[in-house]
Amino acid sequence: MSAVVQSTSGRRRVRVQGLVQGVGFRPFVYTLARGLGLGGSVRNTPAGVEISIEGERAALDAFLLRLRPEAPPLSRIDEVDVDDESPCGAVDFLILESAARASGSSDVAPDTSVCDECLREMNETGNRRSDHPFINCTNCGPRYTITRDIPYDRSQTTMSVFAMCRECRSEYDDPQDRRFHAQPNSCPRCGPTLWLDRAGGASASAVENATRLLADGKILAIRGVGGFHLACDATSSRAVAELRERKRRPHKPLAVMARDLAAANELCILSDADRAALTSRERPIVVAPRRPACRIAAEVAPGGATLGVMLPYTPLHHLLLRPFEALVMTSGNRGDEPIVASNAAAREELETIADELLLHDREIEMRVDDSIVRTIAGRARVLRRARGWVPAPIDLGRPVEELLACGSDLKSTFCLTRGTVAILSQHLGDLEQFENVRFFHETLDHLKRLFRVTPRAVAHDLHPDYASTRLAREAGLHSIAVQHHHAHVASCMAENRIDGPVIGVALDGTGLGLDGTIWGGELLVADYRSFIRRGHLRPVPLAGGDAAVRQPWRVALAYLRDALGTRWREQDLPLMRAVPAGSVDLVERMIERGVQVVPTSSCGRLFDAVASILGIRHEITYEAQAAIELEALADASVKGRYPFEIDRGFVIDFRPAIAVIAHDASIGKLPALIAGKFHNTVVAAIAEAVRRIGAEDGLRRVCLSGGVFQNALLTERMVQALERAGFEVFLHERVPTNDGGISLGQAVIADAILGGR
Ligand code: ZN
Ligand code: ZN
Ligand code: FE
Repeated sequence: MSAVVQSTSGRRRVRVQGLVQGVGFRPFVYTLARGLGLGGSVRNTPAGVEISIEGERAALDAFLLRLRPEAPPLSRIDEVDVDDESPCGAVDFLILESAARASGSSDVAPDTSVCDECLREMNETGNRRSDHPFINCTNCGPRYTITRDIPYDRSQTTMSVFAMCRECRSEYDDPQDRRFHAQPNSCPRCGPTLWLDRAGGASASAVENATRLLADGKILAIRGVGGFHLACDATSSRAVAELRERKRRPHKPLAVMARDLAAANELCILSDADRAALTSRERPIVVAPRRPACRIAAEVAPGGATLGVMLPYTPLHHLLLRPFEALVMTSGNRGDEPIVASNAAAREELETIADELLLHDREIEMRVDDSIVRTIAGRARVLRRARGWVPAPIDLGRPVEELLACGSDLKSTFCLTRGTVAILSQHLGDLEQFENVRFFHETLDHLKRLFRVTPRAVAHDLHPDYASTRLAREAGLHSIAVQHHHAHVASCMAENRIDGPVIGVALDGTGLGLDGTIWGGELLVADYRSFIRRGHLRPVPLAGGDAAVRQPWRVALAYLRDALGTRWREQDLPLMRAVPAGSVDLVERMIERGVQVVPTSSCGRLFDAVASILGIRHEITYEAQAAIELEALADASVKGRYPFEIDRGFVIDFRPAIAVIAHDASIGKLPALIAGKFHNTVVAAIAEAVRRIGAEDGLRRVCLSGGVFQNALLTERMVQALERAGFEVFLHERVPTNDGGISLGQAVIADAILGGR
């Protein structure tokens, strides 16, 4: 008889790695095991979760079979190791205390939008959390932004100062409850409070009073999960214009929060991918084509054909949006500084912008901006990776060294690597601003601690004067300089987990080249270790360095002179009317004499030049403004293209195109038609150069990277053209195609160099 028992029952030890802490994993295991009649235990360890199960073999198999597919929504299982053990007669199933901390680590989850069950409770009259602005459970709520250290326990979060009431405590202790070990668990009695700073008053009336102020056209600073927003009624031109004035932000689009999906659909034409992104747990800002007749004030996104829209993601947002179709919700910061997170900083830095501050006392340990995605070529692609995604590791699919990569100076992020993953920091802004450098340090210390990474080397951009390069040098580690566009291409390869060699098409604004000139329209043949510059746009002289970036007319002048010589003045072009003649003469002399000029093959500058030649934009107030407006204007139904030439060295010459574009513009052809045809021209030229390189080098995989690929029209046509030519095309999806993805590229290149891979 005993022999039969032994053959039908057993005991297994199961180790689970991944995102398995702070996401309701242990109660899930508890419920699953008990449901199958298994005994044993589950506990958190520094490396993940360790489970012992004992009972009938069929039940043990069922447990293992159901572990992955039924795991809680916020969890992510990377690895499951199973060992046989000898049974010890366990009948009960227990949740044990966390094992003592050792080295190694388990992941901290990103912040997650409030779940449907919590929302239902919040909207239920009589529920003890009715209208509670801080409702959350194991399946939702803040994580990364409130966590000081691991393991993820309440004492290690900014919720430690709030003592749970008896009812909250019993939920927290009950493995069967949705709030079992939900660290930010609270209720109106024991949780954080909300108040209007100037008017005062209690939590209960704060939301009501705040919405009244917003309805009156006032501007509010609202403390959220990753920092402050500046909010106003998005349908009020006056309120939005006032916000722009006070924030000194004349044109850059402002994000809007719509009440729900139906309201968002009134504002924008949404694709299936857009809808999925809008309602995803990450709740990013989704950039989508704006409905021409929508009620949003024109001042929200002047000159654009798109609108950045998101849905409420905290309980407070849901409460605030009740009476509104949409609110402007833009980052609460001064100029291009980091998002403001503390009440004290808000009082100081936002006081001249906001009429009133809606504050709360749940501290933000780590500030994180909203993420931004745009659907390009059928998929929602992350353009700014921050709240909702950070610090979720990016699986590289192979072991890597422990490294730090400091990224680039614009749209800065850094990257840490460990094990088989890369941990990308949230968007840190432009490092030209000192405050953003401080933000960089703060975040680096934090992520190194959370993930227990000790980098043994540091990668940085080739540019010696970048703040990110200085930061890398200060680290005192072995340092590796990486060319900007090689990093772009490697970032795309790493994200798609492909090895080289590939043809890398890197189209962007600015990056220092190996020859000391500014690159940005590059065709590389690359693997992780090295690259060859196989082709590029024909360089033009950039007059005045940074001034040329802010004033597209300077680049237009360079292109016009390059294409037409002094004859360019015979054309009647808008730029001659928009720019003072003295300035034009001065810049033309600079170009002529080669004084204060740097040659550049930048594709971003080519877009700037055409925007100015067409009279769309001669000076910009935010990055890539001219190119964004050129795309917005372009008529996508236009078929033809302008002429171009490609020489044997794969140098792409757009002079013939510029000559015709200037002519077309001067005789009053519609800018929309010219812009459409210009997009087709860039696509045709790049695709043709890639085709020739592919034929010569026997390559058929192409990686597209760089900020220019944020342009949906260009990217979609480029993918079509390359696929038609028989290439396999890889794009970014979870990592930004702009400079926010540079740090990942630097890291994998440094890893390949160090590891001899
Ligand atoms: Zn919830
Ligand atoms: Zn409570
Ligand atoms: Fe770049």
